[in-house]
Amino acid sequence: MTGLPIVYHPDYVAPLPLKHRFPMPKFGLLRDLLVNDGVVTVDQVYQPGAPPQAWIQQVHTVEYAQAYITGTLDAKAQRRIGLPWSPNLVTRTCTAVGGTILTAKLALSHGIACNTAGGTHHAFPEYGSGFCIFNDLAIAARLLLNQNHAQRILIFDLDVHQGDGTAWIFRDEPRVFTFSMHCDVNFPRQKQSSDLDVPLAEGMSDEDYLSKVQAYLPTLLSQVKPDLVLYDAGADVHECDRLGKLALTNTGLYERDRFVLDTCVAAGYPIACVIGGGYDKQMTNLVYRHSLLHRAAAEVYRQYRL
Ligand SMILES: [Zn+2]
Repeated sequence: MTGLPIVYHPDYVAPLPLKHRFPMPKFGLLRDLLVNDGVVTVDQVYQPGAPPQAWIQQVHTVEYAQAYITGTLDAKAQRRIGLPWSPNLVTRTCTAVGGTILTAKLALSHGIACNTAGGTHHAFPEYGSGFCIFNDLAIAARLLLNQNHAQRILIFDLDVHQGDGTAWIFRDEPRVFTFSMHCDVNFPRQKQSSDLDVPLAEGMSDEDYLSKVQAYLPTLLSQVKPDLVLYDAGADVHECDRLGKLALTNTGLYERDRFVLDTCVAAGYPIACVIGGGYDKQMTNLVYRHSLLHRAAAEVYRQYRL
């Protein structure tokens, strides 16, 4: 027994201009918090590599992938992403995709695994959007299918924003079931059709939110019977999130993740988790909020002696 595997690379943190609204330091701070609080030991931390560009191009067009990687994307396409291009950001983007792929593979062998980044679900094949450049969830899912590691995958997306890119990418792929539960009035304005969408009213709090998750997940698992669940555990459903518009507390967030993990593992479905969105100027609070996923995962991992 080696304990819950988590995935992190120092390259997850790329320098951004001072006061940029994307909370880049959170990824390194999250890894540090998990180790310092004893949620994981350093030997439970796996370091991913960047995937071959060909894997990225199983989801993204050659033109877009190549233009982004070489820094030749036009200004309008750059603005839609919302993160200023740099060679470090390219490395970060590719390494985080590699991280989600590694997390998915670790989940298949260990039952649960958690990335300390990931969930870039607004990226489409030909363009990036909303801080998302390459769609890590889609790339990991496609790779597992192509390499015969899985035949059915459930993408269970609880980030407060709709998983529009993922929904569109797999709109004609019966082997991937996309589920998105999100705040209806939030970004993106133009929603796509997931296999199942659950739009929520602004301001929803713990009890109502948890009852929705409890109503959908067990049925979904027994219908889809996935070989792997890819879980986007966006923390931007939190009441203090700057972009979220929902009202979960830390307790609600922990209960949500605990329920999702427990339900999957109890029914024998491996689950790979990414942290998704989370936006707060109070970095300490934000990092703690994201760590609730890994705390819940460590607890479930212990409980089931995986
Ligand atoms: Zn989000």
